[in-house]
Amino acid sequence: MNIGIIGGGMTGLVLAQRLSEYGHVVTVFENNKQLGGLTTYHDYGSFVWDRFYHVILPSDTHLINFIRDVGLGNKLRWRGTLTGFYEQKKFYSISNAIEFLRFPPLNFIDKIRLAITLLYGSRINNWRSLEKILVEDWLLKISGKGTYEKLWKPLLLAKLGDNYKRISAVFIWAYIKRLFSARDSSLKKEQLGYVVGGYKTLFDHLEKLICSNGSQIHTGVAVKHIAPHPTGGIWVEFQGKKEHFDKVIFTAPVNILQEVTANELVNISSDRNSVEYLGVICMVLITRKALVPYYVVNIADKNIPFTGIIGMSNLVGLEETAGYHVTFLPKYILSSDPLLKQPDDELRQLFFQGIRLMFPELKADDIVAAHINRATKVQPLQVLNYSTLVPKVNTENDDFFVLNTSQFINDSVNNNAVVRHVEEFLQKSAFLN
Ligand SMILES: Cc1cc2nc3c(=O)[nH]c(=O)nc-3n(C[C@H](O)[C@H](O)[C@H](O)COP(=O)(O)OP(=O)(O)OC[C@H]3O[C@@H](n4cnc5c(N)ncnc54)[C@H](O)[C@@H]3O)c2cc1C
Repeated sequence: MNIGIIGGGMTGLVLAQRLSEYGHVVTVFENNKQLGGLTTYHDYGSFVWDRFYHVILPSDTHLINFIRDVGLGNKLRWRGTLTGFYEQKKFYSISNAIEFLRFPPLNFIDKIRLAITLLYGSRINNWRSLEKILVEDWLLKISGKGTYEKLWKPLLLAKLGDNYKRISAVFIWAYIKRLFSARDSSLKKEQLGYVVGGYKTLFDHLEKLICSNGSQIHTGVAVKHIAPHPTGGIWVEFQGKKEHFDKVIFTAPVNILQEVTANELVNISSDRNSVEYLGVICMVLITRKALVPYYVVNIADKNIPFTGIIGMSNLVGLEETAGYHVTFLPKYILSSDPLLKQPDDELRQLFFQGIRLMFPELKADDIVAAHINRATKVQPLQVLNYSTLVPKVNTENDDFFVLNTSQFINDSVNNNAVVRHVEEFLQKSAFLN
């Protein structure tokens, strides 16, 4: 079959590799000049690494198996890392059982309630009732006020910014489920992973595999219109041309789906703006010395303008980053927030106010560069009853499919979930028959 895939992010490329390996002729259309979408890479001057921080958890079995299947198993690396909390101008490590029990901000009862929440959350299988409850209410009920304020709230802020207030409990349930097996069974150390060379290694490799099977990838090409062809199949319009495909799979965000797709193909269940997205501004600080010993620090301090710290170089060897330390400082905001459009220099100034408060000892000489990266559509906001807002594809047209992260109704958005959704999609569809 001749298949068009819209979007050359992780979803589009995993689909393209699987379908082309199976013998289909695939054409991928990617709007940006380079592949990878949100998982893409960035040239930081003396090295190339992911544009945003990405980590692989031991529980990401679908992703790990995919990486092994395409022949890159020997490029996976694992390392023990630490988790930190920043509260009342102090850093705390809660990276093993003893530190967890010692974590001063939580009293004994708080800790018991935290352990109960983790155990209870990890055992829930039916998420439906959780999407009717706000995450804040659910956590307050199970964990109590102390644990909520001192531990869960900073974590929610780090992941979602202030938008956590509108999110359903499905978010934290999916998070607990995914995270639970990140630690080894003795709860001594977190093992986290990455691919040598970052995600660029995977994307370069996938591009070679896809194109060696006779399929093709167009980068720097925005699809403008998708419509049903009168005699069957689908038209895809780009750069003033029209190409006919037997089937088309759309993987870009839902607002683009609404913009470029003919009304007969998709039926958005409710109004145009029903699915809201989170965006992120992420400062990438390149320094001569490490800022923190942790892979991740959750911040519970309103004076700090970013919502977390990701010490990438505590996971990734310094040989990957020309000997420099790389720290990501994300700030999650609604995709409609005007801050996302603020010039880089103003954002740098804002973020440096927080850096000076947290690291007064950091000297100008220690800083090599500070890059501002941003993305407007990171993940749909999983508000109450999110499953009822997900766009429904009109099944009257058997040749058009939508597979994007807006359809993840009971998952956090990550590349393991992407690979799993692609696998489930291929199993349900007739592509592999
Ligand atoms: C800050 C941050 C941290 C993250 N951390 C992790 C992590 O630690 N672990 C993890 O597993 N995941 C992480 N993720 C999530 C991961 O990046 C996503 O799961 C993944 O990128 C989703 O891929 P996708 O292909 O579905 O969507 P996207 O990456 O959004 O891909 C969609 C593609 O469609 C293209 N497109 C849009 N419009 C058009 C058009 N008209 N024509 C052609 N192409 C078009 C876009 O350019 C884009 O490349 C993180 C993401 C961010 C932003």
